[in-house]
Amino acid sequence: MMKKSVKKSISLILAIAMVLTTVAAAPAVTFAANSSTARQSFAAYQTAAKVVASKAKKAKTKKKKIKNASKIPVLTYHRIITDKQKKSHVYAKDRYAISLTNFNKQMKWLKKKKYRAITCEELYQWRLGRIKLPKRSVLITIDDGHAASVENAIPVLSRYGLKATVFIIGKQSYYSNGSYYITYSRIQDIQKRYSNIIEFQSHTYDQHRPNAAQTESYPSVINDAAQQKNLYGFTYLAYPHGKISGEMIRAYQNSGIKMAFLFKNGTNGYATRKQNIYKMKRIEVPGNMKLGKFKRWCK
Ligand SMILES: [Zn+2]
Repeated sequence: MMKKSVKKSISLILAIAMVLTTVAAAPAVTFAANSSTARQSFAAYQTAAKVVASKAKKAKTKKKKIKNASKIPVLTYHRIITDKQKKSHVYAKDRYAISLTNFNKQMKWLKKKKYRAITCEELYQWRLGRIKLPKRSVLITIDDGHAASVENAIPVLSRYGLKATVFIIGKQSYYSNGSYYITYSRIQDIQKRYSNIIEFQSHTYDQHRPNAAQTESYPSVINDAAQQKNLYGFTYLAYPHGKISGEMIRAYQNSGIKMAFLFKNGTNGYATRKQNIYKMKRIEVPGNMKLGKFKRWCK
């Protein structure tokens, strides 16, 4: 038997429920009466919602596209030689010599991943905070001005729409017969015909020695920089063998060199906006570097 109080409570609950149902039914009737208008406004609401969602998606995509670089790999090569040469005993273990096949693989990957090869001027403007560069930017550099390396690199870079900076030793090129260093006249020719593929910059005029940082005084660096500038007019520099001294930096600062690059074997560094502009880092790409490691270093 149910207690009287429980029965009372159930009746009360039922009564409340009935009242609530009636109240809830009222707007439903109104809705039914104006169902056509309601449908229209609902459709309009849906369209508006779709537009908002689509705009948000576009904005998100756009935001993705303009993701900016906070660090930029500056790759360093020296010799780019034929596969046959690379297999010879002279070059097989030479970390400064990369085979054309290996170089091609790396450039192909950069292209596939939509990397954009930049110039020294672009890196300089970015370093000063004057321009933004997309995340997948890379500066490709080739040291010393070895003639065959430059000639080997041109078609590969051209194939993938990339470009590179070649740091030349001014005196070596000026007096070269073309057998080892790229000649002065070929530099002029490339500057005219392939300026979208190769730019030339300084690797000193005549101070490309491992101990230059210790042996060259401020006046001698000033003098060397002036000779290089007279002949070629360069504004960017890669230090000889990557070694530097305070005097050297000061001399280049006073010689119209706007930015200068270090080079250390195996340096795993990137150019950033916080770096000293006369100590910009580069990454050496050793001749035997596997593609997997190359990919990791570029990211
Ligand atoms: Zn060098």
